[in-house]
Amino acid sequence: MIDKFTDWLRDSAKVLHENAAYLTELDSAIGDADHGANMDRGFAAVVAVLDETSFESVDELLKKAGMTLVSKVGGASGPLYGTFFLRFGTALSGVELTPAAIGSALRAGVDGVLARGKAELGDKTMYDAWAPALDAYDAAVGDGLAAALAAAAEAAAKGRDATVPLEARKGRASYLGERSIGHQDPGATSTTLLLESAARTLA
Ligand code: ADP
Ligand code: MG
Ligand code: MG
Repeated sequence: MIDKFTDWLRDSAKVLHENAAYLTELDSAIGDADHGANMDRGFAAVVAVLDETSFESVDELLKKAGMTLVSKVGGASGPLYGTFFLRFGTALSGVELTPAAIGSALRAGVDGVLARGKAELGDKTMYDAWAPALDAYDAAVGDGLAAALAAAAEAAAKGRDATVPLEARKGRASYLGERSIGHQDPGATSTTLLLESAARTLA
């Protein structure tokens, strides 16, 4: 399982690199035009850690990824994604990696995002992709990890699309008020990329 989680982080880094210009373009409409650069820099640093360290367990791997994101990425997304991976890893410590355990650990990770960012559903943030993804995962978990992750990725994409008509109430985009309406949230977009990558690599 550790190889699959390593593959996930490497594949995510590749996809975020390929989509860096796109994420930054989304952030230029309602933020400060750095989300692509932030995610690319953070995940490149995670890959550098993977290249020089061998991990004994999935929880150590994920916690180190989280600490790396916190330390290498400024702005809102570094601490938020960093906290996600830290709490996701912590929740998997000493636990058998069943589909149900992975689902509740994902939820623990997202609870960390909420504890830090205080977002609510509909605030036009990454949580608008995470929340439906977690629910879809749980609904499909009886069909196994591949089905649960595929359902999560699909739900995240719908949540991402549903951020377009929303007015932002958290983060930089909220400074724009009504002018944030009509734009897709960058963080909900990167969350969807991470979950699509998970569906390809983890199951
Ligand atoms: P910054 O806004 O500091 O430049 P980024 O551009 O990297 O950071 O990330 C912006 C994304 O972070 C937003 O699109 C949104 O999804 C997410 N975000 C911002 N604030 C919050 C929050 N309080 N809770 C959850 N997500 C948030
Ligand atoms: Mg930004
Ligand atoms: Mg910024």
